[in-house]
Formats: sequence, C-alpha cells, structure tokens
Amino acid sequence: MRPSPCARAKIRGDHLEYVAPATLDEAFRALELDEAHCLAGGQSLVAMMNLGLVAPARLVSLRRIEALRGVETDRDGSLRIGAMTTHAELAALDHPSPAARLLGQAARVVAYPAVRAWGTLGGSVAHADPAADYPVVLVAAQAAIEIGSARGTRCVAAGEFFLGLFETALVRGEIVTAIHLPAGPAGAACRYEKLSLVAGDFAILSVAALGDRVVVGGFGPRPLRFEEVGQTAPTSDHRASAAYRRRVLPELVKRCTSR
Ligand SMILES: Cc1cc2nc3c(=O)[nH]c(=O)nc-3n(C[C@H](O)[C@H](O)[C@H](O)COP(=O)(O)OP(=O)(O)OC[C@H]3O[C@@H](n4cnc5c(N)ncnc54)[C@H](O)[C@@H]3O)c2cc1C
Repeated sequence: MRPSPCARAKIRGDHLEYVAPATLDEAFRALELDEAHCLAGGQSLVAMMNLGLVAPARLVSLRRIEALRGVETDRDGSLRIGAMTTHAELAALDHPSPAARLLGQAARVVAYPAVRAWGTLGGSVAHADPAADYPVVLVAAQAAIEIGSARGTRCVAAGEFFLGLFETALVRGEIVTAIHLPAGPAGAACRYEKLSLVAGDFAILSVAALGDRVVVGGFGPRPLRFEEVGQTAPTSDHRASAAYRRRVLPELVKRCTSR
C-alpha cells in the first residue's frame, strides 16, 4: 500500500488521529470519517475538547493547505480572504474599502495577541459563537461565505449562513474556504463597537455599522439586523442578563452610528 500523502500522527493511542493534508481534496477525503473535525487555529476547538464538549475521532489540520491562505483584491475593491487568515493578519490588513476597515476594527479587538496569532477567520465563522466579533461584521458587510466539499464549491450570504447558537449552514464534509467581502458603498462610514466585561473578552453586545446597515451581535443566537432586534428576546447568560442587554443596546447603537 502507498503511504498517505498526509502528514499523519496518532495521539492518545487509537483514540484521536491527527492528519495534516496539503490539499483541499485530501482534506475532503479525510473529513469523510464520522467524527472528523477541521482544526484551524485550535483556539475554540481545543478548549471544547478539553471541556469534553466534543470528542473528535480525527483532527484534520488545515494549516498546510495553501488554497486557504492569502487575501486577493478584485478591481471593484472586493476582497477574497482565505479561511486560514489569522486575526492578527486581518488586524494588520491595510485596505481602504469601508468593509475591510470595518473587519480590521473587529479583528483588533478579538481576544489578545496570543489568540490573534493563531485564531483564524474561517475558524471563527465556522464556530459561529453568537458573542464572536466577525459574524456581525460579515452580515453588515453583506459578505459571502465560500464553502468547499468533495461535491464542489458553493457560496452562502453571511445573513443566511449564521443560523443560531453555534449553528451554521455548513453540512458534514464541508470546509469554509474563503470569505468574499464586497467593498461596501464608496465613502460610507463604518464603525464597530464592542461591549465586554474586560478588554480581550467576548462581547456582551456588539454593533457593526456600514453605511446605513446596522447589525447587532450578542443580543440573540445569531447576528440580527437592527430592524429585527425588537422581535427577538435578548440572551441572558453568564456575561449579562437580558434586561441589561436591552438597556444598553440603544447607547451602543448611538455610539456606533454617530459621526
Ligand atoms: C481566551 C480566548 C478569548 C477569545 N476571545 C474572543 C473574542 O473576543 N472575540 C472572538 O470573536 N473570538 C474570541 N475567541 C475565539 C477565537 O477567535 C477563535 O480563534 C475562533 O473562534 C476559532 O478560530 P480557530 O481558527 O481557532 O478555529 P478552531 O478552534 O480550530 O475551530 C473552531 C471550529 O470551527 C471548525 N473549523 C475551523 N476552521 C474551519 C473551516 N475552515 N471550515 C469548516 N470548519 C472549520 C472546527 O472544526 C471547530 O469546530 C477567543 C478564544 C480564546 C481562547
């Protein structure tokens, strides 16, 4: 039998297998196993494994896959951002479009430098934590999530991708390959405001404004357009009560939208 082209290691005896494919096709094949999980920056997945919330049989590292890296600019100013782009790379992204500036603002307040050095855009998007910084920005920017699998490639609008608490439009065997970020209206104001208990923590609430689009994070199980907020019962969790969220949201929106 020929040796697999994947870098391969066994961790904890036979219980957890680690593979590091070099191409997307190899990764799609590795994900065919039930209970195979992608491993990007590991900043959420490893914590979930440590807490016993997930117990993958195989980790499929995405780190060696060139096709998931890099940021490409189109002539219309839109960007295609590879899923393995780290928070630190996004924080340093120097692009003048309103949407790219908004994404950069959010990247700079994700956690702290150690997490930003490892965590990735694709990992955060796939994880879909309602308190995370990117989902709200991507919905405000009308971004599209590019998804690959052995069946081909599809794109899903960010507004339809985030379905609920840690729930997305991804199905088994699929990998987030890139984010398509339109430039946004020329000259549009853009601002991201995040309220957290301490700097570097997840958001209690966040608001992303791009032109006249305002999207709220942390209020419900998925990013909400401002117009939807009134129809949603706010989240109550260890960070803040529903009543607190309802009370402070107007001030956060005001800060985000005042010029
Ligand atoms: C101390 C700490 C503080 C944090 N604070 C914040 C914060 O303030 N704001 C914030 O937004 N986030 C925060 N995070 C989360 C951080 O941003 C993570 O980097 C992010 O949620 C997951 O990205 P990752 O690359 O580490 O993904 P991983 O942890 O490797 O993976 C997360 C999940 O996504 C899946 N996955 C990963 N990549 C892909 C892909 N390309 N396609 C399909 N599935 C994929 C994995 O299988 C797993 O289920 C924090 C994390 C830590 C540890």
